[in-house]
Parts: sequence; C-alpha cells; structure tokens
Amino acid sequence: MKRQRLRKLLLIASLLLFPITLYYFSPALIINAGLKGIINGSFIVFMLMFVLSIPFGRLFCAYICPAGGLQECAFLVNENLPRQGWRNYIKYIIWTIWLLAVTYCYCQYGKIVKIDFLFETENGISVSTIQSYVIYYGIVCLIFIPSVLCGKRVFCHYFCWMAPFMVLGMKLRKFLHLPGIHIKAKEKEKCISCSKCNKGCPMGIDVANEIKNDVIDNSECIQCGACIDSCSKQILSYGISKRKENDNGK
Ligand code: SF4
Ligand code: SF4
Ligand code: SF4
Repeated sequence: MKRQRLRKLLLIASLLLFPITLYYFSPALIINAGLKGIINGSFIVFMLMFVLSIPFGRLFCAYICPAGGLQECAFLVNENLPRQGWRNYIKYIIWTIWLLAVTYCYCQYGKIVKIDFLFETENGISVSTIQSYVIYYGIVCLIFIPSVLCGKRVFCHYFCWMAPFMVLGMKLRKFLHLPGIHIKAKEKEKCISCSKCNKGCPMGIDVANEIKNDVIDNSECIQCGACIDSCSKQILSYGISKRKENDNGK
C-alpha cells in the first residue's frame, strides 16, 4: 500500500508540473519542428520513452506520466473499467497516421539543422501565453472528461500516442531476448482465485489468468503494482525476466 501512495504522490507531482512539461509530450510541436528540420523536446522525449521501455517497460505510465495522474484523479468519480476489445487498437491507428505525418515533415525539409530541446517554449515553460493556456485546458479536458464518462485510464486504453512507443520497446525486448521489468508470480499454487488482482488492475488485464504462465506478459500492463498490493496471498512481485524463460507468446 505504501508503494501505491508513493506512486500516486509521484503522479500528482507530475500533474502539478504539467503546465511546464506539456510541450515535451506534444504530438503537434514535433510536426512544427519537423517542418523546420529541428529535433525538439518531444522528439527526444518520445525516443527516450522507446529506449527506456526496453528495460523498464511502462513504468513511466504508472509512476511519472502527468496524463496518467490526471486520469487517476478521475478514479474518484468513476472507477469502472472502460470496454475492452477493438477500441484498444484506436491508439495504434492514431499513432501510425501521426508518425507518417511527422516523417513526411522531416523529409520535406530534407535535413536536420539543429537540436533545440526548448523549441517553442518560453525559457523551457510550456504554458506561458494565453494561447498556450487554451491549449493546456483543452488537453486537460480531452484526457479528464473521457475518464469521468467512460472509466479508468480510458485515454491510455484508446487514444494515447505515446503508449505505442513503449509497447514497441517491450516487443523489441522480447524479440532480442533482453531482460526487463515484469510482474511475476511466485508460488502460484497459493492462488485462491479471489480475483482481487483483476479488480485492482486499471488496464483491464486478467491477472489471475496471466499468472498461470508465471509472469504478466501483456503489453497493456503499465507495471503499476496495484495487483501486487491487492493480493492477500502475496503471490505477485516485481521481477526481472527474460523472454527465453517466460515468454507466453503474447
Ligand atoms: S498510456 Fe499514455 S497517457 Fe497513459 S500513462 Fe502511458 S503515456 Fe501517459
Ligand atoms: S497487471 Fe498489475 S501491474 Fe499490470 S497494469 Fe494491471 S495492476 Fe498494474
Ligand atoms: S489476488 Fe492473489 S490470490 Fe487472488 S486471484 Fe489474484 S493472484 Fe490469486
């Protein structure tokens, strides 16, 4: 439980910093930068997300992402799980179209002229003009309102343009047989099928079923540890594992 408190504290801190950091997660600013041949802050942040997800999976989503923090605030109003299924693929369609647009913009300019991490920010601060305030509150509404209406982390499930970078990193980890963070089960025979882990999972993962393979090997898992902390039998824990030993083919 201490872990969940710490996790929520980190998410709230990140949310409070969102007016400063907003543009470093911007899918639009990277297009503007691409048209000028500039590597901007969000370009670097997205690349870091991809690279760091190889060892660390989606810990960013669970512990650092301000949009994750905003959605967890909405848990106070709506604790239902959004519908799963085909809707979870919407984010990959958004991501693919956007990535093609970004590639087109950089190709149009033809070369990289400079790296400017603070591109189009005021001394590194994203929300510094009336226009950027409007953008900020528009994005806050875009993330918060669907979570209130549809349930837990719906923006992460359906729409996030950053999640595919981390999913791709985790797939690469599996492909290259590299070690990385997973949620794993020890002494799974102690499981009493109470499903508390399933109820606690904000990403709608059938944890009780997944642990039959000793490890949660699901790209939607954000490694928040809520399942670990809801299991009274203390079967689940964080661990480092390799595909060779634990891959279940997902
Ligand atoms: S899926 Fe996207 S919005 Fe959700 S926590 Fe991860 S990066 Fe943030
Ligand atoms: S499976 Fe566990 S660690 Fe993964 S998202 Fe669900 S609750 Fe969090
Ligand atoms: S909470 Fe623990 S005991 Fe209950 S189903 Fe999940 S793993 Fe099994």
